[in-house]
Amino acid sequence: MVAHLNGVKALPLAARRPDGARSPAYADLADVRGQVQARRALEIAAAGAHHLLFIGPPGCGKTLLASRLPGLLPEASEAEALESAVIASVSGQGLDLAQWRVRSFRSPHHTASAAALVGGGSGPRPGEISLAHNGVLFLDELAEWGRRALEVLRQPLESGVVTISRAARSCEFPAQFQLVAAMNPCPCGWAGDPSGRCRCTFDSVLRYRSRLSGPLLDRIDLQVPVPRLAPQEMRGDAPRGESTLAVRARVIAARDRQQHRCGKTNALMSQSETEQHCALRDRDHALLERAMAALQLSARATQRILRVARTIADLEGCAGIGTAHLTEAIGYRQLDRDEQRPAA
Ligand SMILES: [Zn+2]
Repeated sequence: MVAHLNGVKALPLAARRPDGARSPAYADLADVRGQVQARRALEIAAAGAHHLLFIGPPGCGKTLLASRLPGLLPEASEAEALESAVIASVSGQGLDLAQWRVRSFRSPHHTASAAALVGGGSGPRPGEISLAHNGVLFLDELAEWGRRALEVLRQPLESGVVTISRAARSCEFPAQFQLVAAMNPCPCGWAGDPSGRCRCTFDSVLRYRSRLSGPLLDRIDLQVPVPRLAPQEMRGDAPRGESTLAVRARVIAARDRQQHRCGKTNALMSQSETEQHCALRDRDHALLERAMAALQLSARATQRILRVARTIADLEGCAGIGTAHLTEAIGYRQLDRDEQRPAA
């Protein structure tokens, strides 16, 4: 069950284990049936702290998948927990000790104002993106969000902080959140569905997708189609997926490699760090250049592909980035690719 606090969905937490273990029980990834590609993308996102966008029809499980991300992340450190507590306190939400070291999951509604999202007021107070600091910000119905709200996300997505300027004063709040967004593929929601029930025109699909600006999409490393589940995957006796615990162990191992190499997660690497740690072999360079030309990728998007490829290699425990890692990373630029061809 999802509790609603001040109109914001809060991640449901199961009761503490009776032995008093402090690790909170997050909702389990095993509850998500099927959706192999989306689960894989969620694991990569967790391993490298990459921003993620799910694209699929209504009811295919995008929200369910997104809500499993906090459980896949390493437990927040004491320092991170302290930062979150200070933000909660300044925001007037108060401190909930039961949430200590629990990664936040914030999911504001698409009608939220830019000020509610980034913070504001005469105080000023932190907004949703700061309440999601060190945790996950989930934006459902991404194409329905106002252009201004999405534009104000760009700076914090890049820098991990948000600056709020008021006549009297300007202040800065931390906003190192991981973005998970979800959207329908077209206005009716069914483009690409095998049933062929989508009747949207190519132009209306393009108009719908153009509500997301190129610079925002550039910053979302993983763009993943989430198809409707097949009937056999929806049956009660369908096999359960891998558990949060099993996936989290791989995520933590991959994050340890990143810390050891660069002292930070792959998504946070600078341009020079990316060049240093994401070297490609010659033939893979040529592959990336062909993809850049075919998908008309910006230099920023290309850097992000390299960081995702690095994370995929880290999950496998590989020292170097191989062709398979790079090819998979390029494959996650779904929207860049879709816009190259008319909808079927
Ligand atoms: Zn449609």
